[in-house]
Amino acid sequence: MSSPAEKVVVIGAGMVGHRFVDELVRADRIGRFEIELIGEETYEPYNRILLSEVVAGRADLKALSLPLPDSERVRFRRGVAAVELDLGGQRLLLDDGTSTTYDRLVLATGARAFIPPIEGLERAPRHVHVLRTLDDCRNIAARAMNAKHAVVLGAGLLGLEAACGLRRRGVPVTVIDLDDHVMATQLDPAPARMLAGRLRDLGVDVITDSSIGEVISAYDEIVAVRLADGRLLAADLMVVSCGVRANVRLAADAGLAVDRGILVDADQTTARTGVHAIGDCAQSPAPMTGLLAPGWSQAERLVAVMTGSTVEIGAEAPTTPVQEPVRLKAAGVDLITMGVRASLASDDDRLVTLTDSGARRHVDLVIRDDTLVGVTCLGAPEISASLSVAFDRRTPLPVDPLTLLVPEGRAEEPTSPVRMPGATTVCRCSSVTKKDIVTAWEDGARTAGDVATVTRASTGCGGCREVLCGLVDWLNASDPEVGTGAEPAGGPATRSTPVTPRNMPVESTT
Ligand SMILES: Cc1cc2nc3c(=O)[nH]c(=O)nc-3n(C[C@H](O)[C@H](O)[C@H](O)COP(=O)(O)OP(=O)(O)OC[C@H]3O[C@@H](n4cnc5c(N)ncnc54)[C@H](O)[C@@H]3O)c2cc1C
Repeated sequence: MSSPAEKVVVIGAGMVGHRFVDELVRADRIGRFEIELIGEETYEPYNRILLSEVVAGRADLKALSLPLPDSERVRFRRGVAAVELDLGGQRLLLDDGTSTTYDRLVLATGARAFIPPIEGLERAPRHVHVLRTLDDCRNIAARAMNAKHAVVLGAGLLGLEAACGLRRRGVPVTVIDLDDHVMATQLDPAPARMLAGRLRDLGVDVITDSSIGEVISAYDEIVAVRLADGRLLAADLMVVSCGVRANVRLAADAGLAVDRGILVDADQTTARTGVHAIGDCAQSPAPMTGLLAPGWSQAERLVAVMTGSTVEIGAEAPTTPVQEPVRLKAAGVDLITMGVRASLASDDDRLVTLTDSGARRHVDLVIRDDTLVGVTCLGAPEISASLSVAFDRRTPLPVDPLTLLVPEGRAEEPTSPVRMPGATTVCRCSSVTKKDIVTAWEDGARTAGDVATVTRASTGCGGCREVLCGLVDWLNASDPEVGTGAEPAGGPATRSTPVTPRNMPVESTT
């Protein structure tokens, strides 16, 4: 007689909870687990990262959907929040008055937007929003149809994406930040100044070294904000983008140890056996980033721990702060940053900088022992993809690193599907290499959409879409039976123009 399935309850149907469930169903071939997924949002899981693209009118809500595996072993309870956790009784109380028990519990409760204390906000005036959920996104997009002037508090990655999105919808926008330059977490002052110039070119006003002292409302609606220096700005829409805080209350109330997140070890396990935390709510020995890729690695790791399989991803999770690769997804701005920034380079590092104020371009490369360890690339999309690949490869650079900045002069094109080594990471969110893509293709995936389904490449931030499509084009072109391979009309991995010649020779992929 087979033993009964182990009941796994997952709290939180965000991007990491969803990924965990999907991974577990894929890995559990013998039906060892039955899964109950509890999500307080009333929607199917969706791609939160692309909400700013929806605000900008560049993505459709439908394209955000993250389907759950079609398995009778998965029960999804949406629109229901877990309100109390009884660790001793292995029981959860839900806000619909029911309860559920578990053998193993996974907390994937994510994070919520932080709202700083500002005079006038306590009256909760209408048209003041954060951007964290699909509902927030809908409300912002709806208000943008009538808004005459928006303010965005916070010039971090998300604040700038929201501001550019609103501007793209035709709303005049001012971004305000306490720091003396935009995207201060990722950028040095020089590229930040260039970025601010680019934003102003696009019609986004930028005020740094300042903050909002008061939100002024009339008839329950925001009408203006007063800056700390006394200036008054008319505003009938405000987006607060001042960082996030992990959702730890449920865990803390139950007696689990929390700090900035729920404390877990490198296997995502709390001090309580069988109770785990992953994603934005978890504080593992690696630094908390609030970004997706580490959360997805944690989900994979936990599945590997539960199923006894091996996992390569995140096997050596860094315990010292590293600058996660970041791409600004804003209409009209092309910016990537990764690794060491120029101001933090050591004396022995080599710095290559290109500044072109007329074209609002700025590139910083930090080279250590002939390896690219830091990239800031603003306004130069023609080289940003190849710099990302060179950064990921960590292989010795050309003798003259200047050639990395000059597309025609480059001795080799690292993003070329032919030259890219098999181990090159194509999709950072899902840690998918070129070799994984080639394997998926060899196993029968013939379109970029098929490859995305198998490998999950391009299903996160979507920054690798072009390279993925180029690889699939190249693979299909190498097989006369397949030809060029049609791509699906929608879905994660589509693009308008091919990026590589169709008749490229095939090279070894290992
Ligand atoms: C607009 C936007 C753009 C972003 N862009 C990027 C980007 O470009 N790159 C990047 O890496 N990251 C980006 N991020 C961050 C990324 O979305 C998060 O890192 C990721 O969503 C974390 O996933 P998670 O599942 O841990 O948490 P979440 O996605 O926050 O999901 C947690 C879920 O748990 C639910 N929940 C919480 N408590 C309970 C409870 N008690 N009971 C039931 N359900 C509960 C919540 O309602 C939520 O649905 C962006 C975020 C936003 C908002």
